Amino acid sequence: MEPVSGVVVVGGGPAGMMAAVQAAAGGARTVLLEKKDRLGLKLGISGKGRCNLTNWTDVEGLVQGIPGNGRFLYSAFANFGPPDLVSFLDKLGVPTVVERGRRMFPVSNRALDVVRALKGAVAAAGVKVRTVAPVAGLLPPASDGGTWVVVTAGGERFQGHAVVLATGGASYPATGSTGDGYRLAAGVGHRIVEPRPSLVPMICAEEFVAALAGLTLENVQVTLVAGDGAGKAAKTGLGVSLFGDLLFTHFGVSGPTVLSLSRALATGRIPLPAVLSIDLKPALSLEQLDARLLRDFGAETRRQYKNALGGLLPRSLIPVIIGLSHIPPEKPVHQITRSERERLARLLKGMRLTVTATRSWEEAVVTTGGVDVGQVDPRTMESRLCPGLFFAGEVLDVDGFTGGYNLQAAFSTGHLAGRVAARKALSQAHKAPGLGHTSVGEGTREGWGVAPFPFLR
Ligand SMILES: Cc1cc2nc3c(=O)[nH]c(=O)nc-3n(C[C@H](O)[C@H](O)[C@H](O)COP(=O)(O)OP(=O)(O)OC[C@H]3O[C@@H](n4cnc5c(N)ncnc54)[C@H](O)[C@@H]3O)c2cc1C
Repeated sequence: MEPVSGVVVVGGGPAGMMAAVQAAAGGARTVLLEKKDRLGLKLGISGKGRCNLTNWTDVEGLVQGIPGNGRFLYSAFANFGPPDLVSFLDKLGVPTVVERGRRMFPVSNRALDVVRALKGAVAAAGVKVRTVAPVAGLLPPASDGGTWVVVTAGGERFQGHAVVLATGGASYPATGSTGDGYRLAAGVGHRIVEPRPSLVPMICAEEFVAALAGLTLENVQVTLVAGDGAGKAAKTGLGVSLFGDLLFTHFGVSGPTVLSLSRALATGRIPLPAVLSIDLKPALSLEQLDARLLRDFGAETRRQYKNALGGLLPRSLIPVIIGLSHIPPEKPVHQITRSERERLARLLKGMRLTVTATRSWEEAVVTTGGVDVGQVDPRTMESRLCPGLFFAGEVLDVDGFTGGYNLQAAFSTGHLAGRVAARKALSQAHKAPGLGHTSVGEGTREGWGVAPFPFLR
């Protein structure tokens, strides 16, 4: 058995590293256990390797960007918000910059700089780090004032007066987050809201998407509705809609708008198959667009239809729109009828794609679902069921849109959990100084093993 630590942090992602730094800064002897051979693997690939650290907004703005239980994070954000994160990173030699959509990145554009800085902070704070230490079991204190025992798959035991569970979600499992935290939390009585892949690309039925792979549409309005309800959505307000960028892929669509809208599929708010409607000209009303087409077509009457859309659409999209409009490509534009032109205008205001499925856990940016926040105190991140057990980051049933919200949530909850865990550990240690034992005997590891979690794979 390792000597008693004040705080044992499980998981070395952004939430766990921040928690460990804060626990140590709060005066607790702290150990950080990471399953993989290095810390911050997912952080290092975040934001396409650039790391969209946070969203430069106030607490209310952050909560709005987190449809999955954002309100649970008020205290965490108030305690450590974007300005605190920026100043924290600045002190570590990582200056930041705000870009379009209030997205904040390191000036260097290198996520690995953020990982390096956090690892430096962990080391400087005196945290003892153990990599290749997959935690397989958690044992609560046998009595008041006793210690938690954290057991690795290899049978090593770590004792602490407080434990911070920061094992992440279940998406991008190659980075180490494979849902272990759900099993560990469930093992000590916590309810797990069914985890599902979110912020995930969508698969479309239309074969033409493959021909568009690589095309990014900027500043389009994208609306997701159930089945055949695309037309109704605009009128009734049903469905979800976002303005921004969309990327075509060989299987369907991705990009910021699509990823954020995929949450409605993950939560079942919109059932599959669904319809994705793309307004290619959101700045123009249908009437204005029709007037623009009339003007364009009137300017060069002999031009064939297939050569007349260059001013309106990206080159690779033109043959697709021509096909979908059912207007003969060779037709001179002055022969296009009013009803054909109106049909084209409607198509440009609502290009429809049939979404048949989402991509898998391997490609999901975050997990929706996780440890039920109703069983966690939002002011401290401490379990309401198990005193001394804290949660931080994506293991919680909290998920945000793209734009830096998820990392800010990880940093903020890690900061709060680490600080309070240190206080708790110090007061517990004070109550029972030198305590280094629990009633757990060797060899009782069987039974705490990580059984396959029913929700995952
Ligand atoms: C490709 C990609 C890009 C992203 N880009 C952004 C972005 O730009 N901005 C943004 O806000 N969010 C982004 N996200 C989401 C963001 O990275 C996560 O929400 C965030 O990393 C969650 O932090 P975490 O510390 O809770 O979990 P993680 O980063 O998943 O870290 C959890 C850690 O716990 C370890 N662990 C798991 N189980 C055990 C165990 N049993 N024992 C010990 N250790 C264990 C894992 O190995 C891992 O190191 C992105 C996600 C992906 C996949």
